[in-house]
Order: sequence, then C-alpha cells, then structure tokens
Amino acid sequence: MQTVLSRLLLVWAVLSVGIRATAQNPKALKYDVRILTGASFSGRGYVDKGCEKAARYLVRRLKEAGVAPATPDTSYLQAYSFPVNTFPLPLQLVLNKKELRPGIDYLVEARNPSFATEKAKVRRVDVARTFEKTDSAARIAALSAQGGVVLFQHADTVVQRSFLRASLPPDSLPAGLYLVPVKGKMTWTVRTRQLAKGATVVYVQDSVLPKKVRKITTQLPAKLVGADKNRQFNVCGMIPGTAQPDSFIVFTAHYDHLGEMGKGTVFPGASDNASGTATVLDLARYYAQHPQRYSMLFVFFSGEEAGLLGSQYYTEHPIKPLDRIRFLINLDMVGECAEGASVVNATKHPEVFAQLEQLNKEQSLLPNLKAGGEASNSDHYHFSKLGVPAFFIFGNGGKGHYHDVFDTAEDLSLTHTENLQKLLIRFVSALQ
Ligand SMILES: [Zn+2]
Repeated sequence: MQTVLSRLLLVWAVLSVGIRATAQNPKALKYDVRILTGASFSGRGYVDKGCEKAARYLVRRLKEAGVAPATPDTSYLQAYSFPVNTFPLPLQLVLNKKELRPGIDYLVEARNPSFATEKAKVRRVDVARTFEKTDSAARIAALSAQGGVVLFQHADTVVQRSFLRASLPPDSLPAGLYLVPVKGKMTWTVRTRQLAKGATVVYVQDSVLPKKVRKITTQLPAKLVGADKNRQFNVCGMIPGTAQPDSFIVFTAHYDHLGEMGKGTVFPGASDNASGTATVLDLARYYAQHPQRYSMLFVFFSGEEAGLLGSQYYTEHPIKPLDRIRFLINLDMVGECAEGASVVNATKHPEVFAQLEQLNKEQSLLPNLKAGGEASNSDHYHFSKLGVPAFFIFGNGGKGHYHDVFDTAEDLSLTHTENLQKLLIRFVSALQ
C-alpha cells in the first residue's frame, strides 16, 4: 500500500513540475513551452479549437500559481471573435506521381478557398517572357481564358517573385490553381478571409518540383469560419499592488500561433510565441510570491497572428484603465537571446531604455540590448498608439525558425531566457 502511495506521490510530483515552482524556474519554463507546443493544442490555432484549449491551460496555470483573475468575473477570460480561414482536413498535392509533403515541400496561401482536381494538365507560364511586356488587364485576361492549373515557371528568383507579387497579386488572380516555385525559407501565416476572385495559390519548394510538371492531383480543402463560430479569448490575471493597486505594470504575450495547415501539419510556434507565453507565466508565478507596490497585470493575447486582433480588442475594451498603466512589456519570441535582445520603442522612451541597459550591464545578464524604434510588429502596438508607455522585447539568435513547421520545443534553447526574466524583475523594481 505504501509503495503504491509513494509511487503515486512521485508521479504526482513529476507531473506537477513547475506547478508549485517559484519564478525563474527553467524547468517550469521548459515544461510550459513543451505543453503549449504539444499535440493537444494543435499549434494554438483554429483547427480542433487548439487556441481555445491553450486559453484554458493558461487559466489553469494562473490559478495554480495563485494569480487572481483580472476580469470582472472569475473566468480570467475576455471573449471576442473574428472570422478566420482554416484548413481543417488533410491536404494532398501530387505532381506527376510524386506526393509532396505539406509544410515542408509546399505551403498553401493562407487566403485560399478549396480546390481539388484529379490528373489535371499543368500549364507552364514563364512569368518573364509571357507577362513582362503586357499590362495587368492583359495578364489577367490571358490567365482567365485558359483557367485550370498554372505553374509560374522561374518564379523562384527574387526578381520574378516580386514581379509576380506586384503585377499579379493573389487577389487579382482568376479562379484556378497557381503553383509558385520558391527557393529557400517558406513562411506561413493566418488570414481572416479568402482571395477575392477565388484563386488558389500554392508555394512549392523549387528543389522538389519534377523537371517537367505534367499532371497534378490535389485536394486542398479550406473552410472560412465566420466570426460567430470563432470565439477567441484573451487571458488576464493580476497580482494586486500593496501600495498603489490602481496603477499597473503590465506583461503581455500572445499565446496563439498558426495552428494546422491541413490536419496533421502542425505549426508548433515554440519560439513564436510559446516562449513569451511561458516567460510571462513564470513571471506571474514570481509576482504571486513577491507582490509589488503597483498591481501586476498579465495579459495573454490570442489573434496576434491574424493581425494583432486580441490586443486590438483589449485596447478597445480595456479591463483595467489604460491611463493607469505605468509601463507595459510585451514579450514575443524570447526563447533565443544568445545574441541579446531587441527593444522596440527604445528610441521612443530613451530614458527608460537607458535604465534597462544600465541594469543589464550591472549584472551582465544579456550580451546586449539593441535599441529599436516604433514598429507595428506585435501586441504592444495598439497600446503604444494610445499613448501607453510600452516596450516590445524579442530575442536575437537561434536557428531562425519562424512561422514554419520547424519551430519546435526541441529546437528552442531558452538558455538566456532566465536572464531576461532577471532583467525584467530588476526593471520592474526600478520602476516603483
Ligand atoms: Zn508570429
């Protein structure tokens, strides 16, 4: 009986790694990154309610840490919604007889509607030769006349791709399937609508294209989900301040990512932004044990990848008054800081940045801090626009996985993230 009990206790202790951990616990940080990038959250997107499940996980972690809900009810959740284009079913793309691998060999344009064809002929169109001397109406007319499947030959060079993008943007293409060869890194995204004229675009690695593409069989089902069917959540927790509870220092991170591009092709988003989410969770755990003079507010946004929609909604419906925010720190992609970190808005708040740099130097925490200007590249943006003093910090270094299927927990080092947390804790104390 006792052995069984002690075994159970051991299992419980292992399972609860991080649950009772104090702040700056690299184990807890790694644990949360691993869970957030795991199969059960489907890349924290819009297939199998991955993002919503991640929201529930964050609520559980905040409760375990003793972080109070910041919402007027006790749910921690701020609900809102937006339409989103999704790829919930398996994708198939066979060129001649070669089946290509989704996510690795090709990406579908995120605004694609469904497309399917069996053993269809592929028409090759040399972008430069066919189109460069014609105007855009003639280009579109030429494509409309023939329809079917078009392979934009030689579109894999930078010049040709930018020509294609400028002269035949996906929204202008008539219905049909367009294969666009790409060399090197492919980057996926999330979109809230489908292409205007019903085209389906697929970006294919040039190196996997057969010498002569003759036949294509493909199933590329897509589903546009209306706002009424796509409820999303911002997750909000707080630690009340001991002296000035109506003033706030805010930590934010988006926890959503791209989800799945066809069932089974998961974009884990370890760097983007399980890293920031886990870091802010860990800071929340720390502040639950170390309340500050000001209230500490922690907001985990969804909808970032779809266009900063969660933070936009929050700033339009703030849970705590925006003008009571003493400072906001947004963390996005902080799992790799071997080459230091960049600070967006540093030039907007030079004195605060100087203070951050000073604290960093005193303890040699990060190799360097790069001062950046204003940018609309993460969730700090809507706050900044409304006059809330904010920094957005992201790490520099690592393997460069970004918006692809390779952004996994295994490939994320998190080696300097603990030092970044130390720096932020010192920074917050200095703000008091
Ligand atoms: Zn992203």
